[in-house]
Amino acid sequence: MTMEIYYFSGSGNFLAVARDIAEKTNGKLTSIASVVDKGPIRASADMIGIIFPTYHEPYNGVPLIVRRFVAKLENIDSKYIFALCTYGSVSVNTLNFLDEILQSRGGRLVAGFTVNMPYNMGGSSLNNPEKQQKMFRVWEENLEIIYEHINARRKVRFDTPNVLAGKIYGLIKYIVTPLIFLFKPTTIRHLKQYYDLKNGAYDEMLPYADGTDKCSGCGTCASICPVENIELVNERPEWQHNCEFCLACFHWCPHEAIESTELENTIRYHHPDVEIRDMLRKNKG
Ligand code: SF4
Ligand code: SF4
Repeated sequence: MTMEIYYFSGSGNFLAVARDIAEKTNGKLTSIASVVDKGPIRASADMIGIIFPTYHEPYNGVPLIVRRFVAKLENIDSKYIFALCTYGSVSVNTLNFLDEILQSRGGRLVAGFTVNMPYNMGGSSLNNPEKQQKMFRVWEENLEIIYEHINARRKVRFDTPNVLAGKIYGLIKYIVTPLIFLFKPTTIRHLKQYYDLKNGAYDEMLPYADGTDKCSGCGTCASICPVENIELVNERPEWQHNCEFCLACFHWCPHEAIESTELENTIRYHHPDVEIRDMLRKNKG
């Protein structure tokens, strides 16, 4: 059995998770950003994994770049497809929505897993190293279970324990799931600030971002952006309006020079096992 694993990652959480899965399954690891603009994506392996962060859950949670990627998949009707999405607080409909998109391409999401990881837009998990360590531990403890499900090609949905909510996470999910539509108007109102809902594209997800005086003109932000949305002009970053809101530029800038009112008080974070060279675009091909 052959395995292809596609991932999308900004802070490195999802790259770390994807690497762990690839190592266990002997899978071929590919960054979604490296293939999404190259025409149809013809799956050749027997098993396909898709790993990505959950975005704006009441707005279905699947990042645009992942939607674009799935819409280009071909030859997936007889494949074992699994997805693993990481989330900061609660994950409800994301896997179902992904399944809908896959079905429109002739495939099915057979197995889906969710993993609680530090939320890179802020909140208690980012500011609390103990919680972060606990999240990484929970992931390590559940990797074997997830691997066994995948290896046996099981049809399954499995949430790893939620570190923030603990034992009441199941109850929260049970209550929130049927009510998720109530949160949608608020989410859409919020998204309208930086999301072009009509065209289905992020307009400028860091609307107030700017390279401040701390900027050294090093170009890391431009090199790390998975969708080439940053150009250096006069040694300062300029955003090109096709942002995917991964926040890699914000979190990986070595001088913390990128600021945004959206991200006030958000500390810079990246997964401790991922280095900047792993994230650079030239290494993702
Ligand atoms: S990574 Fe930071 S310091 Fe380097 S060019 Fe971009 S904003 Fe400036
Ligand atoms: S501009 Fe920044 S947040 Fe937007 S896609 Fe590029 S790295 Fe990610």
